[in-house]
Amino acid sequence: MGLFDRLFGKKSADDDEASISSALAEIAPISEAVLENVTSENEVEETPADESVITEEKYEQSLEKTRQTFGERFNHFLANFRRVDEEFFEELEETLILSDVGVQLAGELTEELRQEARLANAKSQDALRQIIIEKMVDKFEAETLSSALTEADGLTVMLFIGVNGVGKTTTIGKLAARYHNAGKKVLLAAADTFRAGAINQLKEWAARASVDIVAGKEGEDPASVVFTALAKAKAEKYDFLLIDTAGRLQNKENLMKELEKIGRIIKRELPDAPHETLLALDATTGQNAVQQARDFTKVAPISGVILTKLDGSARGGIVLQIIQSLKIPVKLVGLGEKIDDLADFDGDAFMRGLFEKLL
Ligand code: GDP
Repeated sequence: MGLFDRLFGKKSADDDEASISSALAEIAPISEAVLENVTSENEVEETPADESVITEEKYEQSLEKTRQTFGERFNHFLANFRRVDEEFFEELEETLILSDVGVQLAGELTEELRQEARLANAKSQDALRQIIIEKMVDKFEAETLSSALTEADGLTVMLFIGVNGVGKTTTIGKLAARYHNAGKKVLLAAADTFRAGAINQLKEWAARASVDIVAGKEGEDPASVVFTALAKAKAEKYDFLLIDTAGRLQNKENLMKELEKIGRIIKRELPDAPHETLLALDATTGQNAVQQARDFTKVAPISGVILTKLDGSARGGIVLQIIQSLKIPVKLVGLGEKIDDLADFDGDAFMRGLFEKLL
């Protein structure tokens, strides 16, 4: 079953050209009832625990701004179009770009829709709405499904990177608390030795999450902090080592050297590690976040993105861009400033949230 069907319980319009026009009449009434059904089905099948219901609620709330902006923009666009002509497609492309899905993706989607509209003669508002959503959902199907964090058999090492202020330290603290509460032995490494403030902040989070920390001194070689932390983690049989790093992208060459050196030390001590290299991005910064992701992929092999501050952002559309254009899975999302405001990225819940009001 395709992602679209799972989310919206509706047959794909790709299945059958002829069915498109007849399906149009049915589109409007499917909204609430069908979505409710899908939600409860999913809960029974995949998410029996109370915890996931809370997460889904948090998702709902956190996505509210993005959804409103996204939905309003689309509804406004669709409500105002008169006929499907070149102007329509130009405006559609613009609307998609404004929704933060990215220029490339906006272009691709518009082109596909051009073909589709020609083929299927789908010229009504509802038909186009349906096809736009289907196309977007289709594009994310493959990538959104592989977003679980890696856990090794023994020690799992995670490296956190990202520019200052995006919420890296906060995320490490939240994740440490999550693993600690699950009975795991967690060690933090404060390898952002560039700023004393960063070291202190991570110490505070270690205390809050009741986990241990290896902290270097300001100005110390970050790789030596990592070395000490790794030795301790191995000797004392920790389950997780979460490493904070400095994020001065303005000096790319130094950053690259630093990350390379850290990577080399880790590999020498534990050949399979790091098991995750996670890039933290601030969702409220929109295109800036996407640009940071592009830049960081040049300095380190990113295994996943943590999208922070989704709760305060109207720009959740960038998730689509990160996944689709950059081919990096979004693995975690920050939904607030509290210690438990962290959730695994759930592609289905995200897409459902994004398009709910549109259907
Ligand atoms: P770092 O410099 O990347 O380590 O960023 P910090 O972890 O210090 O976070 C910067 C600011 O963002 C702090 O005020 C955090 O409380 C805030 N923050 C981090 N994550 C989130 C989130 O998911 N939602 C909200 N609303 N604020 C967050």
